[in-house]
Amino acid sequence: MTRVLLESIEKRYPGAAPSVADLDLTIEDGEFFTLLGPSGCGKSTTLRMVAGFIQPTRGRILFNDKDVTNTAPNRRDTGMVFQNYALFPHMSVRANVGYGLSVRRTSRAEKTKRVDRALEQVGLERYADRRIDMLSGGQQQRVALARALVIQPSVLLLDEPLSNLDAKLREETRAEIRGTQEAAGITSIYVTHDQAEAMAMSDRVAILESGRLHQVAPPREVYHRPATSFVARFIGRSNVLACTILEAGGDSVQVQLEDGTVLRAPRVPGTPSADVSRGDTAAVSLRPESFAVLRDAGSAGAGTGTGELKGTVRTAEFTGAVNVYEVDWNGNNLVVSVPDSEDRVSPGDPVVLAPHPDRVWLVAP
Ligand code: ADP
Ligand code: MG
Repeated sequence: MTRVLLESIEKRYPGAAPSVADLDLTIEDGEFFTLLGPSGCGKSTTLRMVAGFIQPTRGRILFNDKDVTNTAPNRRDTGMVFQNYALFPHMSVRANVGYGLSVRRTSRAEKTKRVDRALEQVGLERYADRRIDMLSGGQQQRVALARALVIQPSVLLLDEPLSNLDAKLREETRAEIRGTQEAAGITSIYVTHDQAEAMAMSDRVAILESGRLHQVAPPREVYHRPATSFVARFIGRSNVLACTILEAGGDSVQVQLEDGTVLRAPRVPGTPSADVSRGDTAAVSLRPESFAVLRDAGSAGAGTGTGELKGTVRTAEFTGAVNVYEVDWNGNNLVVSVPDSEDRVSPGDPVVLAPHPDRVWLVAP
């Protein structure tokens, strides 16, 4: 039963911008929580501060009510799984999993019991006596997971554990890791740069960029309600267009795009749309699937100003279920996907893109 709190955590190396800046996070008991962001954004640094391998420059880390900021790593009760499994290749699975218990001088009977249980947790009970170098990459990663679980840590920390596996194995293993974590009910912090992996596995995701936190939310919310243009672009595909706020009030915000087009976005408490006022600059995120695509009947004039974007099809790609179009809109390349139907459009066709009113989402620039 462990809840992890990071309070105003900062990590600064001499002569560099902060690797982690003013980070506040609460990871709930039993939660599968993911730190997601591009390489160098501060994920490993954050995880290692929770483990105790790195000391924060500022701030506090608490496990439940206990301040562990100055507690040594081996007294924090965390289990860690790394990208390179860090196993002893010539030793058996059982010896690798039991290693941490030998160091802790656990009795032989207790050790056997706990190793068996950990191997069962990761589905490797039949491989107990196999040498590590006789296992596949995915199996080795499960051994590494069992080795972390065998000490029955209160917090499990995983740093890009699937990066060394090929795509198919990565998908299988992520489901296994999530299943094992859920069954064990153990608070887990997972690090990845792979947004699909984060979305598939996590209860909540924290998105970091250059040491700064952009958003913490469940996967669906991160996708449908990105807080910033960075999140909108990093998660899935999105068209992010700069805009100016014309009016904000009640349950909607009216914005104007560069070409004069006026769009309406929902105004939702606790999101950037609730904080903007007339004259502010912001951006709207439009997912590729948020538009209806209509052939432009050729009405005169440029931007209609009525919530429709007029453009020209640059490319058309049939992908099976949907057609994906790249549309030139005032020199911007918009990506649009619509279900395949009879009235397809082709490169060169003038089109009108009509965003579904509830799919226009206001983000911080
Ligand atoms: P991530 O795991 O998200 O790829 P890291 O947490 O490893 O990123 O690194 C975050 C930033 O901190 C990077 O800019 C990295 O260069 C810097 N950094 C990490 N470790 C050190 C160190 N020991 N000394 C100086 N800078 C470091
Ligand atoms: Mg890293």
